[in-house]
Amino acid sequence: MRRSFVIQKHRASALHYDFRLEIGDAMPSWAVPKGPSLDPSQKRLAMQVEDHPLEYAGFEGVIPEGEYGGGTVMIWDEGTYEMLDDVDPAVALKKGELRFTLDGRKLKGRWTLVRTGPQKWLLIKGRDADADTTDVTAAQPRSVRTKRLLAEIARDEGGDVEKAATGDPAVSKTSRTAKR
Ligand code: MN
Repeated sequence: MRRSFVIQKHRASALHYDFRLEIGDAMPSWAVPKGPSLDPSQKRLAMQVEDHPLEYAGFEGVIPEGEYGGGTVMIWDEGTYEMLDDVDPAVALKKGELRFTLDGRKLKGRWTLVRTGPQKWLLIKGRDADADTTDVTAAQPRSVRTKRLLAEIARDEGGDVEKAATGDPAVSKTSRTAKR
């Protein structure tokens, strides 16, 4: 069974990537400070945060400063996932180990989320044809919906452009400045 997933790049008090999986009628969520890695040897810390409603997966824009998560949000990747062996994801979530394949615009192939402590999980790429040593967060920094960088979303939506820009790669910032 295919279910939806989304990764929202979020420049709040600190930059992180919110990884959300549709499970039942909500999206259990993990904040991944460094973002996903395509390299199976790079286990990425993923802190489980509160479930989000399914509708939130479509949000890209600015959360006002002073509100929870105040800052700029980008839809960095989205698509569907499928549990390995068609395991019930709600059961796997309780057990603390989710094994699935992603069919996103940026992320593909096998992945594992495994709990290592209270709220503390690791996000790990499986060893398959989609594994790679390319730094996907640096190589593909733009929104899959609108192709915008964080600073461009902040500019369009009335957010803090300078703060948002600290979440964009330096190379992209240079090319954006050069275009003006
Ligand atoms: Mn967040």
